[in-house]
Amino acid sequence: MARCSPLKAVHLPAQVTIPPRFHKVRAVTSMTLALSKGRIFEETLPLLAAAGIVPADDPERSRKLIIDTNRPDVRLVIVRATDTPTYVQYGAADLGIAGKDVLLEHGGAGLYQPLDLNIARCRLCVATCKGFDYAAAVRPGGRIRVATKYINAAKAHFADKGMHVDLIKLYGSMELAPLVGLADAIVDLVSSGGTLRANNLEEVEEIMPISSRLIVNQAALKLKRDLIQPLLDAFQGAVTGDRT
Ligand code: ATP
Ligand code: MG
Repeated sequence: MARCSPLKAVHLPAQVTIPPRFHKVRAVTSMTLALSKGRIFEETLPLLAAAGIVPADDPERSRKLIIDTNRPDVRLVIVRATDTPTYVQYGAADLGIAGKDVLLEHGGAGLYQPLDLNIARCRLCVATCKGFDYAAAVRPGGRIRVATKYINAAKAHFADKGMHVDLIKLYGSMELAPLVGLADAIVDLVSSGGTLRANNLEEVEEIMPISSRLIVNQAALKLKRDLIQPLLDAFQGAVTGDRT
């Protein structure tokens, strides 16, 4: 079997300088917006249109992760929903659109959240198997085992009730956990409730309504205000129905 050759030390001539990392030198005359595929992308299209921005590709069809738009100074990056705040926090994207659920878990460091876009609306809920005595389980001093991907939100919710909660972190299909005895309850997003019903679960408590927000890198807002402010204004107009 071929073996890797050991790394050799590279000696750079004295006059060679290493360029700064690319995102720090990306021109202040262009901006990058981070979006996730699916409902956020779909529901953002009309807002982009209100700002005169039309993506050149559909991320559902194309495998491209960087999508150009009709505007040479605007590009989109397609990221996992939970990664959106991270790209914006570090300035790899100037702006992004992320659910309040995702922002609660991220914590919001380094981000402005100037606009609730009122898209991708749903609610964060507690759900259990039908017939589970949730009222008895949530008495102060009680103990409950909860599976969720929303650890921070769930911890805060049950702490407010003065309860002990054993949290089990999952990354998807939370509905399965109570059905197979992994947890007494789940904390998950619900919109129509169809998935809960199909799995013999019921919503027992709403924690908070959820929608998606525009997030902006704090440094980008200062350095690129001329580019970003018109976008904020167009989004604001589209959200409130004011197109003057
Ligand atoms: P996946 O479902 O592939 O694991 P995800 O959950 O990270 O990915 P989406 O399901 O597209 O991504 O959700 C993206 C955002 O849309 C969520 O962060 C949330 O704010 C919102 N959302 C999630 N589920 C619903 C829903 N059922 N109805 C409306 N909005 C939702
Ligand atoms: Mg999902």
